[in-house]
Amino acid sequence: MAIATIADPSGEGMESIYYVISWLCHRHCAHCYDTRFRPYVRDECDAVADQAVSSHAKIVSNLPERMTYLETDDGAENPVRVILSGGEVLLDETREPVLYPVMEMLREKYVGRGGVRVVVQTTGDLVTAEILDELLARGMWRMSITGMDDFPVGHEGAKRVPLIEYLTEEPLTKILDNLAGRPAFEAINAGVPERLGLAFGWDEDTFRRHSETVTPAGEPYRNLCGGCDRFHDQVLGPLIERLRRERLRGCDVA
Ligand code: SF4
Repeated sequence: MAIATIADPSGEGMESIYYVISWLCHRHCAHCYDTRFRPYVRDECDAVADQAVSSHAKIVSNLPERMTYLETDDGAENPVRVILSGGEVLLDETREPVLYPVMEMLREKYVGRGGVRVVVQTTGDLVTAEILDELLARGMWRMSITGMDDFPVGHEGAKRVPLIEYLTEEPLTKILDNLAGRPAFEAINAGVPERLGLAFGWDEDTFRRHSETVTPAGEPYRNLCGGCDRFHDQVLGPLIERLRRERLRGCDVA
């Protein structure tokens, strides 16, 4: 199981890819963007962990053979950032069975091919000196601690496109080629979430209206992430799924 998110759905100039290695999390944050990130117990926990274990090698194999990008046309070639996240990636159920093997596979796959920059994203709750050493020994470039605000940095905002679970069945480049040029993904790439739905009858006011909610204290609150979530639920998610089915059937989709 994986959620991969990318900064540029065209695949050109892609700077980062976001790989959620597991739904398992020891926290249960009310504001989490996906209810699947939570604690699981007994059989359910085993099943979620098994899913992560059984899918990770396939996902890494479906990543491109080279993952670098140019800041400018004549600039230096930079390694793409691969952000490994959960949930909580340092839980025992996934740290050694999934996170460490993924890091080792990434290092092996990209050594001599421009490399990749591996970012480990964690709440920070479970970090110890020993774990830090183990991560560094496997090539961690940076650790991103998200626990301060209980919100997974990188999950938020319209710059990310979820390609849920698809990397277990298709190469990333094939998916990117299929999504490139479609209006919603171009709007995401341009960093203007309010324009995400223009081609689907969601004008900017509609998007803003869907961004409104009420806090637990009953106060009105607006956050564009909420609009993205609604748009994904109602429009983008079904579209992505339809495109996936068409790709798997080998059809050329409009
Ligand atoms: S720690 Fe992060 S992933 Fe886990 S439940 Fe909270 S917001 Fe979600």
